[in-house]
Amino acid sequence: MNDQSPNSWESRADAHSFYGFTDLPTIEDRGAVILTHGKGPYVYDVHGREYLDGNSGLWNMVAGFDHPGLAEAAKAQYDRFPGYHAFFGRMADQTVALSEKLVEVSPFSDGKVFYTNSGSEANDTMVKMLWFLHAAEGQPQRRKIITRKNAYHGVTAVSASMTGKPYNSVFGLPLPEFLHLTCPHYWREGMDGENEADFTARMAQELEDMIAREGADTIAGFFAEPVMGAGGVIPPSEGYFQAIQPILQKHGIPLISDEVICGFGRTGEVWGCETYDFMPDAIISSKCLTAGYFPMGAVILGPDLTDRLQKASEAIEEFPHGFTASGHPVGSAIALKAIDVILNEGLLDNARAMTPLFEEGMARIGEMANIGEVRGKGLMGALEAVQDKATKMPFDGSLSVSERIANTCTDHGLICRPLGQSIVLCPPFIITPGQLDEMFGKLEKALTQVFAEVA
Ligand SMILES: *Cc1c(COP(=O)(O)O)cnc(C)c1O
Repeated sequence: MNDQSPNSWESRADAHSFYGFTDLPTIEDRGAVILTHGKGPYVYDVHGREYLDGNSGLWNMVAGFDHPGLAEAAKAQYDRFPGYHAFFGRMADQTVALSEKLVEVSPFSDGKVFYTNSGSEANDTMVKMLWFLHAAEGQPQRRKIITRKNAYHGVTAVSASMTGKPYNSVFGLPLPEFLHLTCPHYWREGMDGENEADFTARMAQELEDMIAREGADTIAGFFAEPVMGAGGVIPPSEGYFQAIQPILQKHGIPLISDEVICGFGRTGEVWGCETYDFMPDAIISSKCLTAGYFPMGAVILGPDLTDRLQKASEAIEEFPHGFTASGHPVGSAIALKAIDVILNEGLLDNARAMTPLFEEGMARIGEMANIGEVRGKGLMGALEAVQDKATKMPFDGSLSVSERIANTCTDHGLICRPLGQSIVLCPPFIITPGQLDEMFGKLEKALTQVFAEVA
């Protein structure tokens, strides 16, 4: 629906609101979708149209859009103590409780938590912590940050520099000192005749070579998403983390797991590092941390970084960093409730129970002639459209195939996201078998329609 009359919500949105990551010609053509409310996994627009949100908002609304317990936790905390900071040795009680809970559910035996308002800020904070720490330990030259192409770590100047996407060149980013390795996507990056084990070995060798070339003592840290999310749902190649972790350890380079998407069950375990069986030095969390009911991010430091940062901070009296709303009491109360809802009230159990059905649906659609790869883990998946399945040749970029698919899905009442030439699906953890059927039915209809137009 594209209501262009001057007082429509669509026109009013266009007049005074900026959209992020939005193709403006498409909006001019189709109109924006302005939403009023949600129910379970569905959202509703100003015209009363219903959409099944196959992306859980932006990966985060895992408890759906009308969870009564989360709204109540927010209301109760607003009534009790509506806001405070975490500066100057002061902190709300709910924030103290949340840190205990986060360390308890983390893979770490002990640790400490620092709060931000977003995932980007949490990555920024982690980088500043590493710079600060290495300098305090007499290695001020240890400043370079290694990530991978296609990684998504956020949009602030530092986290955008970590993000391995070419679109950041419009800002003149990445900043110097940010290095990107090859994306460990075997299907796309594997060479002719190279098996997956050899591919993984090549990725590890590339890391070794980069460390040798740059100098191990210039590298501050290595950041990775267990499954790359916004890069197109790319699970690591077989044995990837087992191959790279020893290299990082050998050179004293901390491994940071950016679990902003994977954290709290998306990949089937609480943390993506558990799904892929590696032990990071710190975890970055956001998105599902509050099930999307409050903006909040967290850096969860493992025991080694906790001790070292503590010593470094004592030496200079304070760690000069923090956001006004870091550790917000309402966010903390919501996060405590969200963690309880996910882990103890059946959300993670349901996500696990729905995963085989989700994988079955993805595999069925993967049989279409123009789907080149189906990939994913747990309740996150992507379908990559190709012109030619055998040669993996993509569609001509000018056809905007994935955008057309996503737009056609929207017309059928399904929200899903185009990423490169892929379509991403990550339903909320409350999804039912009937709703999964609805999701794949609508998607299949849209794909059939679009492939008939372009193939
Ligand atoms: C979304 C995301 C971020 C950034 O989080 P924001 O809250 O949008 O700043 C960082 N890392 C990963 C893996 C993400 O998916």
